[in-house]
Amino acid sequence: MSNSSLVSYTKLSPNYSNRTEKISKITVHYMAGNLSVETCGEVFAPSSRQASSNYGIGSDGRVGMYVPEDKRAWTSSSAWNDQRAVTIEVANTDSYGTFTTAAWNTLIDLAVDICKRNGITSLNFTGDKNGSVTWHCMFSATSCPGQYFKNNTQRFVQEVNVKLAPAKQRTHKLQIWDWSNNTNQKFWYRSLGNNLYGIRSVATNEWISDPNSSTTQTDAETWGGADNGTATDDPRDPQILVFEKVHELGGYYIHPQVAPNLSLDVAGGSTTNGTKVQWYPSNKTLAQEWHFIPADGNAYYIINAATGKALDMKGGGWV
Ligand SMILES: [Zn+2]
Repeated sequence: MSNSSLVSYTKLSPNYSNRTEKISKITVHYMAGNLSVETCGEVFAPSSRQASSNYGIGSDGRVGMYVPEDKRAWTSSSAWNDQRAVTIEVANTDSYGTFTTAAWNTLIDLAVDICKRNGITSLNFTGDKNGSVTWHCMFSATSCPGQYFKNNTQRFVQEVNVKLAPAKQRTHKLQIWDWSNNTNQKFWYRSLGNNLYGIRSVATNEWISDPNSSTTQTDAETWGGADNGTATDDPRDPQILVFEKVHELGGYYIHPQVAPNLSLDVAGGSTTNGTKVQWYPSNKTLAQEWHFIPADGNAYYIINAATGKALDMKGGGWV
C-alpha cells in the first residue's frame, strides 16, 4: 500500500477508519468552494468535523493528502463506498461545479496513478454504486460532485482509461493498395500546430508511427489509440509528424519529428499492391510524395504520387 507521489502537501486528518476492503473505486467530490489544498486540510483537521478525504486537488492543480490510502476516509456518507474507494475532493470555481483545467489534468493523472498502484486496469461508470467511479450523491442527498463533474464523468473515465491502456496495444504495418472504400485506407489527421500533425486510422484509431523512434530505415506502422472511433488521446513522440509541402497545389513529404531525415516512402516506388510503406532516408522522389484526398466524414485517403495507390493498413481492422 502506498500513496501518490503527486502529493505536494500533507495534513493528516484524525477522521478516518481502518480500511477493510481492497481499493476498487474512485469517488470524485467537489469542495463546493474554491479551496486550496491547505484550506481543505484545515477543514478536515478538527475531529469535530467528522469528515475527510484521501486526497484534495486545488484549482492550481496541486494535490493534498489528508488520509493515506490504506485508511478509509470519511467522505461519501457510505462506509461501504469509502472502504472500497479512494476519495478525491476537487476545488470548483462556480456553482456549476467547474474544475479548472489544471485541476482536471491533475485529477486524471492522480486517478491513473491510483489505478496503477492498486491494480485497477480500467475504470467504468455505470450510473449506480456498482461502477468503479461513484458519486457522493448516490449515497446521500447532496449536490456533490456538482453538475460539471456529473456531465464530465464519462470523459473522466475515458481519459483515465486511455492513459492506462498499454502504450503499444495494437499495431499494423502499412502498404499501398488500389483505392477502395475500405476504412483501412481512411485516415484522420490532427494539427498540433507548428506544422506538426498526427495521422490516425479510421479503422482502429491507431496513429501512424515511427517504431521505436528509429532514425534509420524501418517499416512504417500504426499503433496506439485506445478506443475505436472515440479516443481523445494525443499522439506520442514517435507519432508526431512533420508535413513538408511539395507544391503550392498540394502534396507532402511526411517526416517523423523524431527523425526528420526520414520520409514516408513506398519501397522501391513499386506499384504492386502490398508493397510496404517505410520510413526511408529523404530523397524527394515521387515515392515519398503524398496527397490527401477527402473521403467521407472528415477522413482522407492518402495517395502516393509515384504509384497513384492508397496508403493502406495491412491486415486492417482489429488484431
Ligand atoms: Zn462529496
